[in-house]
Amino acid sequence: MSFQDFGFIDAVARGVQSMGYVDPTPIQLRAIPAILAGKDVMGSAQTGTGKTAAFALPILTLLKEHGACRCLILEPTRELAAQVETAFRDYARYMDIKITLIQGGVGFGQQRGDLQSGVDIIVATPGRLLDLMEQGDVSLSEIQFLVLDEVDRMLDMGFLPQVRRIVEKCPKKRQTMFFSATLPPEIATMTKWVLTEPEVIEIGGQRMPAETITHALYPVAKDQKFDLLIALLERTKFESCIIFTSTKVYADKIAHQLRDLKHAVVAIHSNRTQRERVEALEGFKSGKYEVLVATDIAARGLDIAGVSHVINYDVPSHPEDYVHRIGRTGRAQQVGDAFTLFTAEELDDVRSIERFIGASIPRLKLENFEYTYTAVFNEDKVAPGGVGKGVRTLRGYSFGSARRKR
Ligand code: AMP
Repeated sequence: MSFQDFGFIDAVARGVQSMGYVDPTPIQLRAIPAILAGKDVMGSAQTGTGKTAAFALPILTLLKEHGACRCLILEPTRELAAQVETAFRDYARYMDIKITLIQGGVGFGQQRGDLQSGVDIIVATPGRLLDLMEQGDVSLSEIQFLVLDEVDRMLDMGFLPQVRRIVEKCPKKRQTMFFSATLPPEIATMTKWVLTEPEVIEIGGQRMPAETITHALYPVAKDQKFDLLIALLERTKFESCIIFTSTKVYADKIAHQLRDLKHAVVAIHSNRTQRERVEALEGFKSGKYEVLVATDIAARGLDIAGVSHVINYDVPSHPEDYVHRIGRTGRAQQVGDAFTLFTAEELDDVRSIERFIGASIPRLKLENFEYTYTAVFNEDKVAPGGVGKGVRTLRGYSFGSARRKR
């Protein structure tokens, strides 16, 4: 699914394009269709997951053009309010839509002026908005879209009574989007009166891989991927290892080749019969097989104790799958290593994962492995757009062995 498939109006599609976004993030994939379909949304994603665009893009599409004040977004802090307002302006740059930021700590003049001249969207912190409401400067009677963002932080800051008063002034018939990373009892109660049959979207419940997992990326040229995999396996003292591949064909091929190299290996994917899958899993659990080669579909929900290593033969294209895959190791406070092989073509996926987990993953080079082609080590050259935010370049590489002293 790409941004073109959501059915945004043209101006919004161009706005997204000009931001340079290529693939929607997980929350965008889930929230955008729901909001466009008119549903309430209750999301547990945090800032950094692409949450703002997840609500802004469908809202802008539904607003279409300048009209009455139809959208209100409440944020706990001025910084967040300002950030969200800027994002809205960016996404709406090709639209005739008026957006205003209502926040404390600055004079009333400009905010009153904006409100009087007619705005479509208000991004506000609760205190100042209530002041303006009480002074008759703002009416919420035509609000169609209400976004309550970072509600748990609003609770921490003691804003819930104010939020409640604001929500009570909005029409009952409206679409509400509610985001909170946690759901303490006060907030759980609030969701009941504020939302109507919401679509519940939980993203990033487990964004960060467990701390007991050491993970690393191994850049490699495409035609050396398999050799690097073998070299890694040979040099790693593993008890049990799962190798993930994105296709069934590769899963079979790798299993076959490892078998030729005398590894006790079995493959698991959706083309195998249920009986074969059960046999594979049980054999892996009992130690009959030391390597399990698996595709994501077959691996979902596997809970196998004591997997010492996970190797991603391909970079998963959905960042959650990365966390999910490497979470097969390091379970229950045990240590585990997770290696991901990646080629130049997979650099964008690597970056999405790093954005998703909010950290960069160390790049390693396997010592004494004869790398034939090293362009992939220089990410500045590989990516046309240059190195993305927060991603380490070649200069940040550590050229040590991946082996960890235990
Ligand atoms: P947010 O979680 O809304 O604060 O967004 C975090 C960052 O991700 C912001 O810098 C956004 O511009 C950026 N972002 C949002 N969606 C995407 C996407 N689909 N692709 C790339 N970057 C994105």
